[in-house]
Amino acid sequence: MNKGGGMKKMKYVLVTGGVVSGLGKGVTASSIGVLLKACGLRVTSIKIDPYLNTDAGTMSPFEHGEVYVLDDGGEVDLDLGNYERFLDIKLTRDNNITTGKIYQAVIDKERRGDYLGKTVQVVPHITDAIQEWIERVAMIPVDEQPGPADVCVIELGGTIGDIESMPFTEALGQFSYRVGAGNFCLIHVSLVPVLSAVGEQKSKPTQHSVRGLRSLGLTPNILACRSTLALEENVKQKLSQFCHVPAENIITLYDVPNIWHLPSLLRDQKAHGAILGALNLLGFVNVAREPNLKEWTSRAESCDMLLEPVRIAIVGKYTGLSDSYLSLLKALLHASVSLRKKLVVDWVPASDIEDETAKENPDAYKAAWKLLQGADGVLVPGGFGDRGVEGKILAAKYARENRIPFLGICLGMQIAVIEFARSILGLQDANSTEFDPDTTSPCVIFMPEGSKTHFGGTMRLGSRRTYFQVMDCKSAKLYGNRGFVDERHRHRYEVNPDMVSTLEDAGLSFAGKDETGQRMEIVELPNHPYYIGTQFHPEFKSRPGKPSALFLGLIAAACGQLDSLLHAHKIPNGMAKKVSLYQNGNATKFAKIPADGIYSNCNGVHA
Ligand code: GLN
Repeated sequence: MNKGGGMKKMKYVLVTGGVVSGLGKGVTASSIGVLLKACGLRVTSIKIDPYLNTDAGTMSPFEHGEVYVLDDGGEVDLDLGNYERFLDIKLTRDNNITTGKIYQAVIDKERRGDYLGKTVQVVPHITDAIQEWIERVAMIPVDEQPGPADVCVIELGGTIGDIESMPFTEALGQFSYRVGAGNFCLIHVSLVPVLSAVGEQKSKPTQHSVRGLRSLGLTPNILACRSTLALEENVKQKLSQFCHVPAENIITLYDVPNIWHLPSLLRDQKAHGAILGALNLLGFVNVAREPNLKEWTSRAESCDMLLEPVRIAIVGKYTGLSDSYLSLLKALLHASVSLRKKLVVDWVPASDIEDETAKENPDAYKAAWKLLQGADGVLVPGGFGDRGVEGKILAAKYARENRIPFLGICLGMQIAVIEFARSILGLQDANSTEFDPDTTSPCVIFMPEGSKTHFGGTMRLGSRRTYFQVMDCKSAKLYGNRGFVDERHRHRYEVNPDMVSTLEDAGLSFAGKDETGQRMEIVELPNHPYYIGTQFHPEFKSRPGKPSALFLGLIAAACGQLDSLLHAHKIPNGMAKKVSLYQNGNATKFAKIPADGIYSNCNGVHA
């Protein structure tokens, strides 16, 4: 964009939500980012979460969805995962603002005496801190290019009018005034419900929420209305009149078969023209040339067309709530779409396959085992706490003995090692000291990176390097025969280095270790079709079009295609061929296909 020379003023797009929560604001904001990127702009993003927690690290995935982990070790809201995946960028922990972080910064300043003599107040001290934070973080480069991005997309979590978000709305109102018209564009995501009795699209809830927005000093430039079908012309007119937004700036986000359709849905309604207009960028970006979303469109369409299923059993604790394993599901999806397979996820509650359930709830036990036995591949994800651990161990045993492709992530790797020690080494009470501090065979132990006596902050978090110890192994080949890989971590416990040689002598291969050789990062069973465990979480770096290597390996093995994948020595780009069914762009008819193209045995389908 900087062809004009000297022009380097950050432009801001704020995305707010009205009427109800769960409108898919995060995915909409990410798609807006994709569209602007397709216009040739460099995009960064900030997510504001008005809760009091300083970060998402302490929040239960059951309540709030997964904790997403960044390269710098930040434990953040899962929406940052959407931004990273959609925009293919790397964010920092500061790109997630919470009420807790802001108050902590202000209180620390007060304790240092920086406000000496002053009464410290929400306005102006908290609101100033919010604005300073946004301006500072927007400048951090996130796309591996030098210098700051052109546009920063800010998503305000929650719904307009929430008590919690008041300091943020006040700060953003001041901010929009300060950066000035032409540098700030507000997109309000709202809902236009259709009452089934009359079949009419209702504009009143949106009118009310825009009124709320205005009363807080924020003026929307664009309305993005969630509705099952495209907005009728008269409804648009009415919204335009009552909300003071030009009709051409009213976009319908109607239901689409999967979220990858969203960027082109926005483009087809000329959302980019409206945004660039509000940001005074029409002179810098050639809007006559349609933003190029070819890759997104063909991937979205081919995802809808997949027929041949691949069944993956996820044996975990939070089954039934897909947001708890969002990145994992995305990584599985990226891999299966690239191999042109329809992903079917079978959620297996880990505790249901335990012997105890056979007595207490035989039906649940039978159902869980049936799902596990019907799977083409088994995935045991990360987790904390001992609930379901024995069930996960049974799942690993089942996959090992029956030569079913298996991927264990973090806790999933640890339980695979425990299972091996119990079954092959005959160490009956082998365990992790996390679950049995008194075990006589501690295969997995607490290994903090820092001090053992220091309480708190003992989690090993963020990007760490894994060096391959063996090159002739599946994981090294899948990673493209590189000497090392950088992946993200979130754990405290690790394979006990004192037991490594015994485990290796019995046939387990520690194919990847850290730079000291003391921390086991990748474990493999060489004589199994696909049995891999990783101490890191490869799911956080999987991207649409760039599936994570070990997920790709799992799906390929589950479909009997691993050999050809390994021989090809090249990760195939399964999205290359464009399918032409929806060429006229009318996707509304296909709304029955689950959002995101993931078919599963629960309805935890997310936007
Ligand atoms: N609870 C295990 C640990 O702390 C595994 C963590 C995880 O799976 N993310 O090491």
